[in-house]
Amino acid sequence: MKTAVSRIAGRRTDLFVHGAWRKPSAGRYFASYDPSAGAPWYEAADGGEADVDAAVGAAAQALRDAAWNGITPTRRGDLMRRLAGLIDDNKEHLAQLETRDNGKIIAETRAQTGYLSDYFNYFAGMADKVHGEVLPINKTGMLNFTVREPVGVVGVIVPWNSPLSILATALAPCLAVGNTVVAKPSEHTPASALAMAELCMEAGFPAGVFNVVTGFGESAGQALTRHPGVAKIAFTGGTDTGRKVASNAAANLIPCALELGGKSPHVIFDDADPERAVNGVVAGVFAAAGQTCVAGSRCFVQESVYDRIVERVAARAREVRIGHPFDESVQLGPLALRAQLEKVERYVQYGLDEGATLAAGGERPAIDGNGWYFRPTVFAGARNDMKIARDEIFGPVVCMISFGDEADLIAQANDSVYGLAAGVWTRDIDRALRFARAVDAGTVWVNTYRSASFVSPAGGFKWSGYGKHNGFEAIREFTRVKSVVIDHSGLGRDAFVIQLK
Ligand code: NAP
Repeated sequence: MKTAVSRIAGRRTDLFVHGAWRKPSAGRYFASYDPSAGAPWYEAADGGEADVDAAVGAAAQALRDAAWNGITPTRRGDLMRRLAGLIDDNKEHLAQLETRDNGKIIAETRAQTGYLSDYFNYFAGMADKVHGEVLPINKTGMLNFTVREPVGVVGVIVPWNSPLSILATALAPCLAVGNTVVAKPSEHTPASALAMAELCMEAGFPAGVFNVVTGFGESAGQALTRHPGVAKIAFTGGTDTGRKVASNAAANLIPCALELGGKSPHVIFDDADPERAVNGVVAGVFAAAGQTCVAGSRCFVQESVYDRIVERVAARAREVRIGHPFDESVQLGPLALRAQLEKVERYVQYGLDEGATLAAGGERPAIDGNGWYFRPTVFAGARNDMKIARDEIFGPVVCMISFGDEADLIAQANDSVYGLAAGVWTRDIDRALRFARAVDAGTVWVNTYRSASFVSPAGGFKWSGYGKHNGFEAIREFTRVKSVVIDHSGLGRDAFVIQLK
């Protein structure tokens, strides 16, 4: 990738508006940190209200231009396939950029960027398969059909934990159906969104179709959610921020899709294959150092096998290889932010204060340098009413909680403000299905965990938000339905009476 973003170490990046680099209007830049070194590695532009205004203006202009709205859905699909090809050509570079910016281990960012082209190709295939319907209207001599249109300018706000993948979950369906996008990546990880903007231009998307305003949530993010030119907000992030976003969207009477936090129950019944279940629990909570929205951070284990399972989970946690995220043999890298590391430490103390005990971890490992590392941590004797089981910690911490029968399990699993995901390990299919039906979760995994797919609709319930990404649900999310009624009867009708027949 012979572009500015491929060589950003030690440099400055600008905003990407209307197909070109743009200096931030206030002239300010801020440092983005490398979590493995705990040190800045480049500076990103601090975009403000005026920059958001320019980006929304560019996106609105692109919506009106024939270069975008005048091309057929099939040609839009072609552009997306070209983008998918470029993503594939650059997947190693994108993985390295992401690992450097947020500390996620290279094995995982490679898996994520390796999957991105499939994601764009899937939605490219949808571009010319989105259509309305002809309806059997109950009036003589009339035709009624619906059209599924793009919603307009979509504001996409992305967190720092999986910046590129989360951006793609909104960008791919948005582009497939002809929207234009202004993205605001997290201040902690802006690089990959800028790289994506460059690839969109290289693929041939018209200027203004995809714009990126880097900056802070309270300024650039808020300005985007308040802008009257934005037709929809796709927000992924914390529940508290989600409330502010929803309230700004409500003031403008626009819809939003909110992908928020979680505290997902991950269940092991006494008949489960212990080896597979323990692997699932360990990977399900410690992957990405626990910084995934679907982390199975409340692990419910049936009483009769509780001690044995806790012992095995703790033993596996102690074996996890912690180290530099670019080391291919490493399984757990640093946390993405210093503030996140400090939060995890605070929660470990809360857990101890509440009477849970540490079966593994609970401290920083001895690793050279100033990286933000924390050991995989297993709390034994945790209860669902403890703070460590109620709040999203967003770090490598699992609460091991025991349950008696299914009724007890469901009561505890659903006793949470969140409803994002759930997992269950059992050989009894009836039991698995009863759990899947009863649990408040947007996604339920049986004898697997964190198995995501672009075909599978995902999104939370309760405080985990609303709206769906992936599959045809994502197309519904980013289109609006218009109903067109035509009188072809040739009859004169009474203009002052509503036509009921
Ligand atoms: P966050 O603090 O809520 O930030 C998310 C994004 O919102 C960032 O780009 C942030 O910018 C921006 N933002 C902050 N304040 C804003 C405001 N007032 N108005 C508009 N935008 C604002 O969340 P995070 O700490 O980055 O991400 C972790 C959270 O995301 C966790 O709760 C996790 O569960 C959730 N998450 C959910 C999903 C899902 O699919 N459900 C997926 C991934 C993550 P700055 O970073 O510059 O402040």
